[in-house]
Amino acid sequence: MNYHQYDSPIFRMACQQFDQVADFMEIPEAARNRLKMPKRALSVAVPVRMDDGRTEVFMGHRVQHHLTLGPTKGGIRFHPDVTVGEVAALAMWMSWKCALVGLPYGGAKGGVACNPRELSLGELERLTRRYTQELIPVIGPQVDIPAPDVGTNEQVMAWIMDTYSLQMGYAVPGVVTGKPVLLGGSLGRREATGRGVAYLISRAMDTIGLVGSGATAVIQGYGNVGAVAAVSLAKQGIKIIAVSDAFGGIYNQKGLDLMKLDAYVAETRSVVGFSEADPISNEEMLILNCDILVPAALERQITEVNAAKLQCRILAEGANGPTTPEADAILTKRGDVMVIPDILCNSGGVIVSYFEWVQDLQSFFWSEGEVMDKLYRLLEQAFIQTLNLAKKKEVSLRFAALSLGIKRVHDAKVLRGLYP
Ligand code: GLU
Repeated sequence: MNYHQYDSPIFRMACQQFDQVADFMEIPEAARNRLKMPKRALSVAVPVRMDDGRTEVFMGHRVQHHLTLGPTKGGIRFHPDVTVGEVAALAMWMSWKCALVGLPYGGAKGGVACNPRELSLGELERLTRRYTQELIPVIGPQVDIPAPDVGTNEQVMAWIMDTYSLQMGYAVPGVVTGKPVLLGGSLGRREATGRGVAYLISRAMDTIGLVGSGATAVIQGYGNVGAVAAVSLAKQGIKIIAVSDAFGGIYNQKGLDLMKLDAYVAETRSVVGFSEADPISNEEMLILNCDILVPAALERQITEVNAAKLQCRILAEGANGPTTPEADAILTKRGDVMVIPDILCNSGGVIVSYFEWVQDLQSFFWSEGEVMDKLYRLLEQAFIQTLNLAKKKEVSLRFAALSLGIKRVHDAKVLRGLYP
């Protein structure tokens, strides 16, 4: 099959994972491309009036992977490397993720190739609103519901909600999740992904008999996922010995003081230069001796170059697609690292997004306690199902998680049939 406009290393990686699972599950050849290829994609030019009077045109995309089970769901990424191929791979992973945890959604993803750090607040708002305007024909509470991802946040979601609502003529909170609570956001959504990562790490620790107090963790990416996971892990008595962001990493074998670090990051917008730690490169950080490694940044960080050198016992994938199939094969062969695969590990975010959407549709809001209880219940169920299938079939947790997700989408397509 020719992947056309999606062809890129990362889309090929997502397809390679799919093909391996499809072979193992003996999904008929005829059903494979229908499952794999995104249903639709929209690429748009986003003209933005810059502060200096120039008009700059940014490329934006939205890919909806399948529409079989309900609306599509997934984040919007603002990052210089965004391409339609990357967005398509991320949309495919959202499909398997939603199906694995039992949400009535297909996967989607969107993005604009830009560097949000170089934009003023006004430029960021105009870019967000114009991109939303271009997407109006393909988004909506019953069609496709965006959310935050790398480089976007609650404020960006608020602008999306406002732009869409102005077009409709009334407030439509259900068009987007990860909004501020005041605009119909859910309590616990901001923390959901990071807390979910920490919950699954503690379940993985139970499984391999690792005790919390005194254990050490390294976190790549100190954004909404990594920073929240760090705090939750520290609450379990785990020492965070190294963290990094796009500008560099910091390391302190005695453990970082997260309160001080967060205050420093709030001021300088980076972990780099924090006085109570030494600088460390990304490459060195990933292979530090630690119990838990959390890649919570971008794709393709654990590769055939460093997989054999990892010294962690648990690899908890807070990011989407951080481990290449080559690295995965090395880790599976090694057998001494428990990998909590991305579609399970970071699913807390989309789970609480689903709760947010349900609350918006009902205009009836839950307490934070209710949200967290329901979140942990769904995570526990998916964790146990994944673990059991991996044991039964003697496959990796990633293979088991992907199999569960892909099989549900496949079964749904069979039940609905092929029209006409
Ligand atoms: N961007 C997040 C993810 O990759 C969240 C998606 C959502 O909440 O819809 O899972």
